[in-house]
Amino acid sequence: MAEHSKKLKVLVASSEVAPLAKTGGLADVSGTLPKALVQQGVDARIIMPRYKNIEKWERTLMDFPVCVEEYPDTAIIRETQIWGSVKAYLVDCYRYFERSSLYGQPDDAKRFAFFARAVIEFLKRYEWKPDIIHCNDWQTGIIPAYLRVVEKEKEDLAKIRTVFTIHNLQYQGNFPREAIKYTGLPESVFRMEEMEFYGQLSFMKGGIVYADAVTTVSPNYAREIQTQEYGYGMEGLLRYISPKLSGILNGIDTEFFNPETDRYLYQNYGIENAVAGKRKNKLELQKELGLKPEPEIPLLTYIGRLSEQKGIDLIADILPKLLDMDVQVVILGTGDKYYEELVSTFREVSEKIACVLKFDEELAHKLYGGADIILIPSKFEPCGLIQMIAMRYGTIPIARYTGGLADTVFDVDTNKEMGNGFLFTNYLGDAFMKAILRALEHFNRKELWYSLVKKDMKLDFSWTRAAQEYIKLYSRMV
Ligand code: ADP
Repeated sequence: MAEHSKKLKVLVASSEVAPLAKTGGLADVSGTLPKALVQQGVDARIIMPRYKNIEKWERTLMDFPVCVEEYPDTAIIRETQIWGSVKAYLVDCYRYFERSSLYGQPDDAKRFAFFARAVIEFLKRYEWKPDIIHCNDWQTGIIPAYLRVVEKEKEDLAKIRTVFTIHNLQYQGNFPREAIKYTGLPESVFRMEEMEFYGQLSFMKGGIVYADAVTTVSPNYAREIQTQEYGYGMEGLLRYISPKLSGILNGIDTEFFNPETDRYLYQNYGIENAVAGKRKNKLELQKELGLKPEPEIPLLTYIGRLSEQKGIDLIADILPKLLDMDVQVVILGTGDKYYEELVSTFREVSEKIACVLKFDEELAHKLYGGADIILIPSKFEPCGLIQMIAMRYGTIPIARYTGGLADTVFDVDTNKEMGNGFLFTNYLGDAFMKAILRALEHFNRKELWYSLVKKDMKLDFSWTRAAQEYIKLYSRMV
């Protein structure tokens, strides 16, 4: 790394950060990117809300009032560390963050306006000032807006540059116009060129319009969101700001997701003993989940939110055919109640399927270890981490050719050199089923399959490359 960038100071602002709070890939990225940045000599720190489940911290730094309603609430800044190397600041406010879930609360606009403004107030009062604030998704979209519109005269704040990363454009943080009063922004931002979005106030637009650079989590998704099919109404704006838009493919935490050391697995394994290791993990998994303990049967898994984004409707569509075949299926996920009930009904009629409807990190790891195939039929997929995690454990992806999946999964039958999984393009049950049949054919040719397992396990999805790309971007900006 160049000498000058050693001093680079980056504050990652995010509404969820693994391992402190996680509902999905956003947390994986917000936790692992700063770790990789620190390893490469950047002074990277994190700021996030202090949720109910976070009960420990090392010290309390300060408190100050933040006024999103008529009367101010107190924000308390706690300091902790993650991974033993990354400083994390927690914005503590009982009223807004002591909740049963991270999002989906009726006062989300107030909660995340409070968070954003607390970040700014904290920086005003704290001796350490970042060169860059790296904001993530709509929950932090107010930060760039506030810096550029409200604090533009304050020299020490005005010189901070902002990066806004879109992890999922579908969730835009759009609220009734009145929400503007919580943000502290002037009414003048409520126009189409700024934060108005079809009559609502869009936190996401705050990030897109005002950040100095906008990134998405894969190069392909950066292109896709500029089209009507994937743009969720923001494609025009995204085309307009395209000179500052780029895509940086996420990595995965290869220390946390490592079959050689993973404490959740029934048995650890590496590339050399992958066949025996995966077999043992499959057998134990089958016993734990009440499936027939037969390691020869191909075990297919689905891990993730049960939402149409993830293609759960296609899964439901093909399950009757799939369960007629000699396979086993495990579904792990939570989400849309309709699909939770629907997939559960298959368990009532078939012993070849197990459905676990919860968020269970341990079981997810056991599935990455014990399954043969992971099903990822996403309608859209900004990056997708599960295909990369699965491959690290020698579990072969069957994925739809979209977003970050198209950047990471290559079809074995059409790309001999890079082929690492199976792809289909049309969002149709038949197309998905054909890809599954091709994968099962390969599965039956044992030598071919084992070499594919080993090939996938050797792929490098570490954060080192992605962190370097972010450092280049930050360095260009300061
Ligand atoms: P998302 O769009 O949900 O962020 P990603 O593929 O980017 O999807 O990341 C999903 C992350 O969440 C992965 O680390 C995956 O293992 C984890 N995950 C998803 N659902 C569950 C679940 N039900 N239990 C445990 N881990 C889960």
